[in-house]
Amino acid sequence: MIITERKPIEQDVEVAVECDRCEKRYDKNKDLCDFEEVLRLDFTAGYTSAFGDGYRIQCDLCSDCLHQLISGYCRKSEY
Ligand SMILES: [Zn+2]
Repeated sequence: MIITERKPIEQDVEVAVECDRCEKRYDKNKDLCDFEEVLRLDFTAGYTSAFGDGYRIQCDLCSDCLHQLISGYCRKSEY
């Protein structure tokens, strides 16, 4: 007979995020609203992508940087 016991599982927990553009850090415990506004891009580029076929692209952008980068091109409406 196998005897088992439950042990706590150690896992990495996200505690902060740093904007890849301005390098500002947002701590989950101190800056929760700003932390939650960070946009995380994480995708694999496809065959005709400007990033190159098959490359994994990752980028975290804070709300200020995202606004500076796309506000001239996005559509904005009340939800
Ligand atoms: Zn930023």
